[in-house]
Amino acid sequence: LSTMPKCSITVLGSTGSIGVNTLDVIARHPDKYQVVALSGNGQVDKLVEQCLLHKPRYAVLATVDRVAELRSKLAAAGLSDIEVMAGLEALEHIATLPEVDAVMAAIVGAAGMRPTLAAARQGKRVLLANKETLVMAGRLFMDAAREGGATLLPIDSEHNAIYQCLPQPFSDQAGQGVRRILLTASGGPFRHFSSEQLAVVTPEQAVKHPNWSMGRKISVDSASLMNKGLEVIEARWLFNLPPERISVVVHPQSVIHSMVEYVDGSVLAQLGNPDMRTPIAYGLAWPERIDAGVAALDLFQIARLDFEQPDTARFPCLALAFEALRMAGAAPAVLNAANEVAVAAFLAGTLGFADIARLNEQVMQQVSPDFDANTLDGLIAADAAARGVADTWISRRS
Ligand code: NAD
Ligand code: MG
Repeated sequence: LSTMPKCSITVLGSTGSIGVNTLDVIARHPDKYQVVALSGNGQVDKLVEQCLLHKPRYAVLATVDRVAELRSKLAAAGLSDIEVMAGLEALEHIATLPEVDAVMAAIVGAAGMRPTLAAARQGKRVLLANKETLVMAGRLFMDAAREGGATLLPIDSEHNAIYQCLPQPFSDQAGQGVRRILLTASGGPFRHFSSEQLAVVTPEQAVKHPNWSMGRKISVDSASLMNKGLEVIEARWLFNLPPERISVVVHPQSVIHSMVEYVDGSVLAQLGNPDMRTPIAYGLAWPERIDAGVAALDLFQIARLDFEQPDTARFPCLALAFEALRMAGAAPAVLNAANEVAVAAFLAGTLGFADIARLNEQVMQQVSPDFDANTLDGLIAADAAARGVADTWISRRS
């Protein structure tokens, strides 16, 4: 028996794609990890199932409406000692509990920002999947992590790959010799679609990603290349590199998860099967390594790796992200909020796919200059204003 104390974990967004993969890796190592808290947004039965397996002390819902249902289902399962809570404060509470060592931040969208920020302030080991936190509040979040003494481990596969290929600790000193980072992009399900074809794609087509199985929002973002744009902004903050040192390379096989180019001409890459359990296991175990349940990479079966230039004429969302970084201030937060509204409307069938980029651009140009990005309140106000303008844009359109 190991005498090492177990690492105690809160999984924010445990019922989602990243959350489920996180619990899969954790279940492979019961000697190393212990789940303290789980959270979901109304997937009560899934949450109960996860509670049965992982026996957390807390189960948290995003809203209060199904708290009674969760309590009675937990009681029926013999788990009445699990404390049920709901709401943003409850999420912040489980992200900052003194007995918690690590927080997996896997809520989707801006809704994840407050609890993720709270975990960073509290100096937790933060496993960061929720990229929208960095897009919305990159500078504030990085400052909070530094001041709180948090350990930040990127879970987004590209950023995890870059983290693995960078010298550690990375501070962009001249002697470290990093010239630029190369973010790989699969190109999504519509890589070869013409603008005419893109105008009529359906939500069902958009969520069918060729290589990765993910939540619906990020799948649509991958199809529009907004996801790669959000990742450029994420990388800018995580690695403190200006946008001109961040390049995007379309690589349809998704085997190289990203690369770092050095001044001596070396390019380091991290490769693997497209399975999020690899970056999740890396984040859980760092600086050690643990089995993730991922099949070994079979290079003979893959046989070839291809690379293409991204096409920002057909996929303008990627260019919008670079523009948001150039505009700075509240622009990335506004872009993120507009995009969340646009994607929800596209999934609901009230907005065309090509209109996602149009809406994002208009809202970003119109709303960003009015807001202050130096305070959380300013960013939250920018987010709310962007959502309002986006809603109006959509109702005028339809
Ligand atoms: P998902 O939709 O599958 O899961 C989202 C989780 O957040 C669920 O547990 C859901 O219940 C919860 N949630 C949703 N709305 C909420 C709200 N308002 N308040 C509180 N909780 C809420 O999403 P996902 O694919 O697991 O992605 C999660 C995050 O990880 C996203 O930020 C995404 O960009 C990032 N990410 C995901 C992948 C992937 O492979 N899925 C890869 C890289 C990064
Ligand atoms: Mg990614």
